[in-house]
This record gives sequence, structure tokens and C-alpha cells, in this order.
Amino acid sequence: MPDYVPEAEMAPRDVVARSILYEMTKTGSDKVFLDVTHLPPHLVTARFPHIYRFCLDCGLDITREYIPVAPAAHYLMGGIRTNSWGETSIPGLFASGETACTGVHGANRLASNSLLESVVFSKRMIRRSQMLEKKDCVWHEGKTPGNKNVYLALPSRSALPEVPSLNLSKLQSLMWDKVGIVRLGSGLGETVGILAAWEKVLQPPSDRFSHELNNLVLCARLMAEAALFREESRGAHFRTDFPHSSPAWLKHIIFRKDISGER
Ligand SMILES: Cc1cc2nc3c(=O)[nH]c(=O)nc-3n(C[C@H](O)[C@H](O)[C@H](O)COP(=O)(O)OP(=O)(O)OC[C@H]3O[C@@H](n4cnc5c(N)ncnc54)[C@H](O)[C@@H]3O)c2cc1C
Repeated sequence: MPDYVPEAEMAPRDVVARSILYEMTKTGSDKVFLDVTHLPPHLVTARFPHIYRFCLDCGLDITREYIPVAPAAHYLMGGIRTNSWGETSIPGLFASGETACTGVHGANRLASNSLLESVVFSKRMIRRSQMLEKKDCVWHEGKTPGNKNVYLALPSRSALPEVPSLNLSKLQSLMWDKVGIVRLGSGLGETVGILAAWEKVLQPPSDRFSHELNNLVLCARLMAEAALFREESRGAHFRTDFPHSSPAWLKHIIFRKDISGER
């Protein structure tokens, strides 16, 4: 890690994840190693008892050997716009946790705040629903802070590519490869086309699995379209063709069904 950033392992998670990915590409490997062998063994077993036991069950003694690791989708920064009460734009629907875009995390996700976030927002949602039971209290549509947010409808895409038949693992691979840790405009452009083509051939949902697949394609498309539209890098959204953050993009992209253009 010191070869990549002076803060080494203490750099933000997205920076560490990108550095690992670059190192894996450079060395043609599917993993890097985490080294805790410099710590006294009793400290490792006392501080990390679960991971110690888990690795031992897999035949790895982490007090003496390196731990193989690879980056994964570690966290998300919202998606469903809420206000600080957890209210969304749909009356009666609250959202909290990683799925919510409250604005409290900024562009990246603040480390080790998940439990605190759950406790605070669950309590606020309960308080708010109690308030709403009173007749003089009205639902407030979720509003996330931002300079001048961009409101869009999902673009309709034509000249769609020929696509292979859709299944969950193909969708996951596409999202990991093109909308994952490192993104590029051309890959995102290709992805929105594939997703729009899949959307066109989706059968009306009939059971739980097909409902989930339909929803996943829609979520994937919202993510890919937003990532393509945002021509900068911010938080864990990193584009190699726009590697720096831009003050012009200090705002949210909000997709709404009832909006047809920018406002
Ligand atoms: C490897 C790793 C390490 C982490 N380390 C830390 C840490 O040290 N400190 C920290 O604060 N945070 C950490 N996080 C982040 C933290 O775990 C998450 O922010 C937190 O768990 C999010 O909680 P959530 O309830 O919003 O979402 P989740 O915990 O993802 O819960 C969502 C739930 O919804 C269920 N679900 C999904 N789809 C459906 C459906 N269609 N129908 C019904 N149920 C569904 C899922 O099965 C899941 O149980 C870590 C995350 C990872 C992956």
C-alpha cells in the first residue's frame, strides 16, 4: 500500500480497494495478502477470535501465515433518497441503512458507522411515524442536501445491442466488470445498452424470483445511467476517464418517474 498512497492501509476504503485491484492486475494474481504476523500471537487471537478460528478451520494460521484477500462490493452509498427522518418520496415508505441516501455519509461511506446509523435512523423513523399519526402532521418528501440537484427520467435507449439471455450471474458479472470499483465511460455506455436491451425482453414478473430479477435490472440500470452521467470521480465512484472530482458535480443525480428533463 505505501507504493500507492502515503496513508497506506489507513487510506479510505475505495482507495485501498482500487490499489488492490491495480496490484492484482499488475501481478496477474487473483489476490493480495494481509500480513498480521508482526503482531504478538496472543493479541491476534484475543482481538480477532472469529477470523482467527475461521482461517484456522481453512488450514491457515494467521499468526504465522499471510491472509489472502481480494476486494469485494464492500458497501453502497444510498440510492433511495430520504430526508433525515428516513422519509422517501412515497408516503408511508421509509428507508434506512446502506440503501438510503440521507446525505449524512457525504460522497463516501463513513467507516464503522453502520450500527450507529441503524440505531439513530430506526429511532427517528419510529418517532416520525408517531408524529404522522397526528392529523396536523404531513409527510415530507425525502430531500438530500446538494447545490442544485439534477432531476432526470431514465433515458429511453434505442439501437439496442444483441444480448445473451439474461440470468442473475450474467447481471452480476456485468455490474462487477463495468460498474464496479473502476469505471470507464465506454464500458458504462456499453452497459446501459445491454441493460436496456435486457429490460425490453424481461417477462412480466410472476413469482418471487422474476420480481427480484426485474427489480435488479432496474436498480442496475439506475446505477449505470447515473455513473455514466456523472463525469467526475467522487467517493467510491471512480472513473478512469474523469479521475478527479469536479465542483460542478457537487450535487445529486435524482431519477424520477414523473420528470422528463433537468431542472
Ligand atoms: C466485508 C464487510 C465488512 C464491513 N465492516 C464494517 C465495519 O467494520 N463497520 C461498519 O460500521 N460497517 C461495516 N460494513 C458495512 C455494514 O456491514 C453495512 O453498512 C450494514 O450491514 C448495512 O446494513 P443494512 O441493514 O442497510 O443492509 P444489509 O445488512 O445488507 O441488510 C439488507 C437485508 O435485506 C435482505 N434482502 C435483500 N433483498 C431482499 C428482498 N428482495 N427481500 C427480502 N429481503 C431482502 C438481505 O438478505 C439482507 O439481510 C462492512 C460490510 C462488509 C461487506
